[in-house]
Amino acid sequence: MADMFSPKQRSEIMSKVKGRENKATELRLIRVFREFGIRGWRRRAKVFGKPDFIFPAARLAVFVDGCFWHGCPIHGSLPISNRTFWVRKLSRNKLRDRVVRRKLKSLGWSVLRIWQHELHEPAKVAHRVSKLLFRYSAMLKGRKERSRTNRGHYTQLGLRK
Ligand SMILES: [Zn+2]
Repeated sequence: MADMFSPKQRSEIMSKVKGRENKATELRLIRVFREFGIRGWRRRAKVFGKPDFIFPAARLAVFVDGCFWHGCPIHGSLPISNRTFWVRKLSRNKLRDRVVRRKLKSLGWSVLRIWQHELHEPAKVAHRVSKLLFRYSAMLKGRKERSRTNRGHYTQLGLRK
């Protein structure tokens, strides 16, 4: 079936759809956070790559990816019309996702990308988020304990008074 819109028009239409979808998925994730008592998040902070949510204390960036826009392996099918256009556009999106992930990691962030379709299983999503948050707080705790034992050790050796 031929598209009645030019690629440019189609792109404008779709970007409006995308905006709406994004907002809906973000709100859905907020509901998941609330339901599972996940705290400490902020929305749309000014961080590289514009994560949908960040947990500043844990330095965790969360993206909720639309299945279509980010080429989900299950639902990322390409439209029939203007195929070349979409192939290019969607592969650009995927490339950008990779660049963002790499850059954020180099800045010391953990990056979690959640597929739109995963929101159908809120418990799983909550588990993935809290696992990362927990890992972080465990790491902090470990660090504190280590430094405590080190101090004890030094005192024993009489290296520090
Ligand atoms: Zn999907």
